[in-house]
This record gives sequence, structure tokens and C-alpha cells, in this order.
Amino acid sequence: QLAIEASQLTFSYPNANTPTLQIEQLALPIGHKLFVEGPSGSGKSTLLSLLAGITPVQSGSLKILGEDMAKLSGRARDAFRAEHIGYVFQQFNLLPYLSVLENVQIADTFRHKKLAARQGKERAMQLLSALQIPQEAFSKSGIELSVGQQQRVAIARALYAKPDILIADEPTSALDHANAAAFMQLLLKQVNEQGTTLVYVSHDESLRLNFDQMVRLRSPGGAQ
Ligand code: ADP
Ligand code: ADP
Repeated sequence: QLAIEASQLTFSYPNANTPTLQIEQLALPIGHKLFVEGPSGSGKSTLLSLLAGITPVQSGSLKILGEDMAKLSGRARDAFRAEHIGYVFQQFNLLPYLSVLENVQIADTFRHKKLAARQGKERAMQLLSALQIPQEAFSKSGIELSVGQQQRVAIARALYAKPDILIADEPTSALDHANAAAFMQLLLKQVNEQGTTLVYVSHDESLRLNFDQMVRLRSPGGAQ
């Protein structure tokens, strides 16, 4: 079965002369890892937003886990996302007024099927430890952590609800090369253990060999 199946998927923002995004064919089996690259403005974030069901399908077809995204209402896409998708934003978006631990468990706020409180806390702590966040940081606000730690907390948060698909938008852009590589290994370990399908945007070409497939996006207008 396929995690992602796209065909003739295009997206244009209002007032743009050319489509921002054009994907002819994409078929990603469940559990596979997709690397997305392309220069700034080439539509990477737009693609991720479509895959996550944040942005509605405009033209072409997109199936996620067999679900035809074009047929879902905005509400249904939100529910689908809460159930199946973990998303790591480029800026992490940790909520500063919540502790690290509360941030990781935030998915429970949006899901019908909550983990029991105790079980949830254990899962959050186990994920944070696996991602090498020191225990004394669990009760801190995310903004008290280093950038590298914030990033790993964001990954723990995205993995907490055991998503079928993890989508990550340049999570390593603030890290140097060695730290990016170390981060990648931690992420891959979690993803492999859980059989999660991974969609990962990065400018760092050296990370590519960890992936099964690649999509290269081009800027509208053709430059590169
Ligand atoms: P990345 O390519 O790293 O994902 P972003 O998608 O956040 O980065 O944005 C790409 C770059 O293009 C950023 O520097 C942003 O400021 C710039 N940018 C995005 N949209 C516009 C726009 N409409 N006009 C001008 N610059 C833009
Ligand atoms: P990337 O992530 O590769 O940098 P984006 O998907 O963020 O690319 O943006 C692709 C293009 O769409 C850019 O030219 C950007 O300026 C434009 N764009 C992004 N978001 C919007 C928006 N909400 N309204 C209009 N144009 C947008």
C-alpha cells in the first residue's frame, strides 16, 4: 500500500503567473523515506502543506494512505492530520508557556483517542530520552533550551501520537553539518522502529543517502 500517491498535482497561489508547484507523479510506499529538495521559493513548504492536509488540493489528485484528499472537507482534513500525520515546522513552534513535556503531549489536546494521562507522560518521557533531551529539561519552557534541543523536542512532539507519516520541513537548517548528521541518525532510529513514513525537506544534500526516493522541485521560471 502507498503512503502517498500524487498525480498531476499542481498548486497556484492567487495572483501568481505560473503554478508554484507541479508534481507529475509521486508514489511513496508505506515506511519509505522521501527527500524533498529545491531552492527557496520552489514550493517545498507548499508541497508539505498539501501532504499534511493543511492546504486543500486545487488540481490533480492526491491520495494519502489511500484517502482521496480532494474529497475531504477542511474539518475532515484536520481530523485526518491529527490521526495520521506528524509535522515538524522549520521554526519548531514550541509553545513557550508550556513545559517541554506538555509540548510533547500537545497532540492529546486535539485527538479523540487520548492516551491515558500516565501512559502519555511515560511515552513523552521515553521519546525525549531517546532523542537525548536531559531529564532536567522536561519541566522547562522550550525557549530555555538550545536550538538543537528544541528541534529534538519538536520531533518528539511530532512522533508522540505515533503518526503514520512524519513530515519535517528543514529541521536541520539551524544546525552545523556534524550536528545535522547526528540529529538525522536519532530521527531515523525512531522512524525505523515505528515503521513511520518520512517526508523530509532539506538543503543538505549529504543527508540524501538515508532516503529511498527524492523529489527535486524547481523555481517557477526555470532557474535551477
Ligand atoms: P526555505 O526555502 O528555507 O523553506 P521559506 O520558504 O521560509 O524558506 O522562504 C524562502 C525565502 O523566500 C525566505 O527568505 C522568504 O523570506 C522568501 N520569501 C518567501 N515568500 C516571499 C515572497 N512572496 N516575496 C519575497 N520573498 C519571499
Ligand atoms: P519553499 O518552501 O521551497 O521556499 P514555498 O512553498 O514556501 O517555497 O513558496 C513557494 C512560492 O510560493 C514562493 O514564491 C512564495 O513566495 C509563494 N508563496 C508561499 N506562500 C504564499 C502565500 N500564502 N501566498 C502567496 N504566495 C505564496
